[in-house]
Amino acid sequence: MTPTFADVLHKLINSSDNEHEPLTNFINGSFVGSDYLIGSDRPATGKQWIQIPNATKEEVDSAVDAAHKAFQLWKKTSVGFRAKLLNKLADLIEAHLEQFAILESRDQGKPVALARTVDIPRCIHNFRYFASAMQHHVSPSTILEEPTRALNYVKYDPIGVAGLISPWNLPLYLLSFKMAPALITGNTIVCKPSELTSVTAWAMMHAVVQAGFPPGVVNLVIGKGDVAGNTLVTHPLTPLISFTGSTLIGKRIGELGAKLNKKVSLEMGGKNAAVIYASANLDRDLPLITRSCFLNQGEICLCTSRIFVQRSIAEDFLSRLVEQAQKLTVGDPNKQFDLGAMNSKVHFDKVCRYIASAKKGGGTVHCGGVVKLEGPHSEGFFIAPTVISGLADDSDCMTEEIFGPVVCVAVFDEMEEVVERVNESEYGLSATVWSTHSEELMNTANSLRVGTVWCNTWMVREKQT
Ligand code: NAD
Repeated sequence: MTPTFADVLHKLINSSDNEHEPLTNFINGSFVGSDYLIGSDRPATGKQWIQIPNATKEEVDSAVDAAHKAFQLWKKTSVGFRAKLLNKLADLIEAHLEQFAILESRDQGKPVALARTVDIPRCIHNFRYFASAMQHHVSPSTILEEPTRALNYVKYDPIGVAGLISPWNLPLYLLSFKMAPALITGNTIVCKPSELTSVTAWAMMHAVVQAGFPPGVVNLVIGKGDVAGNTLVTHPLTPLISFTGSTLIGKRIGELGAKLNKKVSLEMGGKNAAVIYASANLDRDLPLITRSCFLNQGEICLCTSRIFVQRSIAEDFLSRLVEQAQKLTVGDPNKQFDLGAMNSKVHFDKVCRYIASAKKGGGTVHCGGVVKLEGPHSEGFFIAPTVISGLADDSDCMTEEIFGPVVCVAVFDEMEEVVERVNESEYGLSATVWSTHSEELMNTANSLRVGTVWCNTWMVREKQT
């Protein structure tokens, strides 16, 4: 008998490490085992806890074929029908929110409290938001006047199979943000979550079955980027590719997509700066500035990783930031700690290398670094909020994306100067400006070459963006 969605979650949560049978791909409505398996680690213990497929070219091909066949019918369904299924899926996930939060935390390393309040609610919201949004969408039309007398209208048609490639920092949150718009607009999908965090996506496929999606509309392949991801990107039957991940891989996918004439959406890395003017209201805003550096262990593309503070308050600001950072606790993601574990050994080592490089380059590390825990977490990948100052603007820590709980503080004098220094970056995702003078806020915000600027706040936005 096929286990129910609830049984699957129960079993995943209650199995001891490596007791659970390996995860599978999900192709044409069936869970299909793979002969090629790799281990997935639990970041808080540093130990393998489950085996997952490393999908082959043939497995990805068969998922794309299934999605391509299903597209012929799915594209003809009404938006109302698609919305009904997406809403059902959202309801099923919501009914099991706590289990998804536990699994996301176990697989990713983040505190379960964060997954419970941010990741999983946002995933549910993504499905509901897009289910509703398309139902209110009316294509613009105009009647051309004499002598033409013609009706001019825009019609949005589904395109085909969308390959959805997502990263490990916000696993279900970001994958659902791709799935919902692709499905509601009548495309079928092949999802490829990060090989480092594929458990909740796999669990969600059982909800997809229960919600009643026709076979082949939603498919999942689990595996690494070099084969599974690359096959999806280059497959002749995937005209749509949506990728979120590193700038390095994103650029490669952009080049391939251009050559193959595909519609490609790329969400890539960040090296986000905060500009702190002397007039900033630190009594009010310092906790949020600190949160912007360290939330989710700093593993959010929008986290602050460079701070430019005006000279007259620089010393005071630095000591207060360090004080705030030191108050943040690090530990078992199942308990009430502010930060959990870094996602993987490879990533942990990378962040450690940046901290070592800062020291070598003459920077001062005021707090943070590796945290060694006792007991079952002694091999876990824990790093405390780390504040560094005294680095040159062109040092690796000031220019490259670290993507961990590390922030570098530098001093500036004038607006023009700081704008130039912030803009001197190959990244352009977001920035924050902190001041109580509206002119400072407006002029700085308008001059920064980034996609989003928050003034005296962070991560406040409409949820569809
Ligand atoms: P990554 O680029 O290593 O991997 C992202 C995904 O791409 C994974 O599923 C991976 O398996 C796949 N992939 C790897 N090589 C591939 C290839 N050759 N072809 C096709 N797919 C391939 O990124 P990551 O380390 O998983 O995630 C962290 C990065 O994601 C950071 O740079 C972060 O800033 C970025 N990110 C950006 C946003 C955003 O909205 N801009 C959001 C979250 C994360």
